[in-house]
Amino acid sequence: MTKDWQITYQDTPIGVKSYGQESILTLGNGYLGWRGAPVFSCYNDDHYPGLYIAGVFNQTKTKVNNHEVVNEDLVNFPNPQLLKIKINQTELLIPYTKRLAKLNMRHGNLTEEMTFPVKEGHLFLKTTKVCDPVNYHQLALKINLKLDFTADIKVELIIDGDIQNKNVARYRKFNSREFVITKAAKHLLQGETLQSHIKFAIGAKTSSSKVNFKSQYTENSVIDRAEVKLLKNEPLEINRVAAIATSHDATDYLKIVEKSLRQNDFSKIYESSDGHWQQFWKDADIELVTADADIQKLIRLNIFQLHQAASELSNPKFDASVGSRGLTGEGYRGHIFWDELFMVPYYAANAPLAAKAIIKYRIERLAAAQDNAKLQLEHGAMYPWQSGNTGDEQAQFIHLNPMTNTWYPDNSRLQRHISLAIVYDLWSYTQITGKDDLLLNGGLDLLLQTSKFWLEKVEYDGQKYHLSGVMGPDEFHEAYPNTETDGLSDNAYTNLMLAWSLSWLLELKKIMPEYFDKSCKKNNFDRSLVTKAKEVSQNLALFITEDGVIEQYNHYFELKELNLSAYTEKYGDIHRIDRTLKSEGKSSNDYQVDKQADTLMMIYNLGAKVMEKTIAGLGYKLPAEWLLQNRDYYLARTVHGSTVSRPVYASVDVALGDTDSAWKKLKVAMKSDYDDIQGGTTAEGIHMGVMGATLTAIMRDFAGLQWEGDCLTLNPKLPEAWEKLAFTQVYRGVKCHICFHGKELMIKVSRNCEVEIAGKLVFLEADKPYVQKF
Ligand code: BGC
Repeated sequence: MTKDWQITYQDTPIGVKSYGQESILTLGNGYLGWRGAPVFSCYNDDHYPGLYIAGVFNQTKTKVNNHEVVNEDLVNFPNPQLLKIKINQTELLIPYTKRLAKLNMRHGNLTEEMTFPVKEGHLFLKTTKVCDPVNYHQLALKINLKLDFTADIKVELIIDGDIQNKNVARYRKFNSREFVITKAAKHLLQGETLQSHIKFAIGAKTSSSKVNFKSQYTENSVIDRAEVKLLKNEPLEINRVAAIATSHDATDYLKIVEKSLRQNDFSKIYESSDGHWQQFWKDADIELVTADADIQKLIRLNIFQLHQAASELSNPKFDASVGSRGLTGEGYRGHIFWDELFMVPYYAANAPLAAKAIIKYRIERLAAAQDNAKLQLEHGAMYPWQSGNTGDEQAQFIHLNPMTNTWYPDNSRLQRHISLAIVYDLWSYTQITGKDDLLLNGGLDLLLQTSKFWLEKVEYDGQKYHLSGVMGPDEFHEAYPNTETDGLSDNAYTNLMLAWSLSWLLELKKIMPEYFDKSCKKNNFDRSLVTKAKEVSQNLALFITEDGVIEQYNHYFELKELNLSAYTEKYGDIHRIDRTLKSEGKSSNDYQVDKQADTLMMIYNLGAKVMEKTIAGLGYKLPAEWLLQNRDYYLARTVHGSTVSRPVYASVDVALGDTDSAWKKLKVAMKSDYDDIQGGTTAEGIHMGVMGATLTAIMRDFAGLQWEGDCLTLNPKLPEAWEKLAFTQVYRGVKCHICFHGKELMIKVSRNCEVEIAGKLVFLEADKPYVQKF
């Protein structure tokens, strides 16, 4: 059904709601992201045109309250779509009264129809936008105009170079001029980012069969201008092609842009996009039939946006990863977080070259991670919590409290688990593709260097190893109550992932002994560290109650309880209860209240069996009901202040067999951006992590498809509400098409292989559908 392939808006929103829609309507191709702002808009309270290039950052400095604050931002480039119209000498000003915006995900285009009432009658405007997925420097725009009266009109299509990073309201007080235009010419602007010195060229060409556009330029802009008498109801079609390239991704960036303007027109780019997306969906689609309206199209939105954030066609050709908001907005300044962890398993099974490019971004920054460790008097490699251009730490160390005009510490960078997330991504890629190419090209170095960091950091008390000065994923807890010391001790998630990561290291020693020894030498990872890795992997500390509840970190259980129902009653939405508590002069550090899933996060990553095995490997016994006990304990204390919290709990629910409550959580997560469930954050870009996490939960947790041990396994646990689920994934070169319909399962593989279905090993012949009841 068409509606399941389209995101449609018919309202004329303002403020953050409009910004949010523009984020969702972004077009992209892994290389560039083009926010879905209307063509007539410049930056104002209701609209925010944005054009971002993967991996292109710049730093600015701002003096605030006697401190010099340095910010690194994903650069917003000149706006090549700005349309200005004069009707009988009068400038057309918004507002429009009618609007129909459609993001057509099947064909990869965005159309927007708008009606503008003017004094003589109406102007009807339709725009069609596409990005080229193949020649990823290009984008194209078609404008259809009509009047219901006759008038002289003047049309200008502009590359506006007077652009700053202004998407996020709270950042606007900081210096946000990121680049300077160095040269303007007909059809072309050239410029350079101010601190990172990345050069760029952006060009555009406008044409129409009815009018002749002339290109002129000013210091900061290029204007293609035409004048025409437009008769009543006479259509006018205008085509525009734009291209952008930077010295970050190509030495001949200027030539790329010039060539693109010479050789392309709207229809070529449109066809390139259309053909690509039609082909893409053949394998990428996830068909989910349920009674829930919107779910099917939201699944497709997630797939669409993930493919736009990183693509196999573009990302292998340049150095970039996917930021927490992709290329759709400036939230978190475009930085790269652990959120990759929620995307890599999806990419690895659907677009392995994109997964590889994401991990390569980290491998390329191993030296920076080593410098980062040194800077903090640590050893080995310590990846930054927020990463941008070079891979140094981009999280702020202090923040200004505007109420008290004082600076207070921001400890979020103590989420050292980021290094474990990167190891997990490397493992996922290796596990899902069966390829050791990354391990052999810097991956093992990364694993050894990050392991060294942990092995030198842990402290032994004669019985157990402890890890202090860290934070878990739950950002409400940065320090112990009433202490000056930053960070916490023995965060269970970090310790468990560390034990697992060290075990993988030791496994690789067995699997690739020669290469392992060579790499150990290269990385000064001597025998004593190998021995220590084994010891630590078996003796990290955890704190577990008799009921089997694992303490989130040492002394967490001593924190005060908070009556969340009372807070909900008083404040309504409490997903950022940390801020509410602050406004009451309290601190979330003092309470057992969590922003997001933390203790049980390992289940999302590796499953309940692996978590149980790792805990046993550390010498702890768990009662039979441990999982239920933990889920209930932590769920009751979690406010889901991060969109990636619910998919994690959904995985835990599936592990418990509680699929209906898992599905309820996943549905909310799926609507994170569409319903802007955090009340305005979608304005700053869509949340890529939750998009990857929901798809992973559907295929890996609910359908239960994964690579375990030596073969593919399928352990379906589908919610009652699902009538049909069908999808395709590739594991270790075997393309698997899976379809659950009613009580029947069909699986087809591209190569003869064995698959363990619900615990039973079945031999499948290539291309022969295998059907069974489930
Ligand atoms: C979450 C982090 C996440 C970051 C960027 C925060 O709100 O707590 O887990 O990495 O957003 O998406």
